[in-house]
Amino acid sequence: MDQPSATIFGRILRGEIPCDQVHSDDLCIAFRDVQPQAPVHILVIPRQPLVNLADATAEDALLLGHLLLVAAQVAQQEGLTAWRTVINSGAEAGQTVFHLHVHVIGGRPLQWPPG
Ligand code: AMP
Repeated sequence: MDQPSATIFGRILRGEIPCDQVHSDDLCIAFRDVQPQAPVHILVIPRQPLVNLADATAEDALLLGHLLLVAAQVAQQEGLTAWRTVINSGAEAGQTVFHLHVHVIGGRPLQWPPG
């Protein structure tokens, strides 16, 4: 059995700290980012405590696909017709919480490339 996530997202999953939840199912939850970078900024996280994509294996393929489908679903729930999904993997890429999460960002024009 997986170890529980020691991160702040693990605490959210266990109900130890609150979040502004917009989706929940057997595999994941989605909630609003506490420091939004755009009018819509939602995080989709697996219940399973994967660290990031480097920690994922072929066994996680269905879960990873599910996270992306939920990302699209919550973006559309928010009324977005265009949005960006981001998964930071590793501190140098900007990852600060070491529990896999998909950022869903939208509601304003987004520049490319990101910083
Ligand atoms: P990353 O930098 O890709 O690891 O993203 C982590 C994200 O988690 C950041 O955008 C933070 O603002 C967000 N975050 C951290 N703590 C919380 C929290 N308690 N509730 C919601 N979002 C959070």
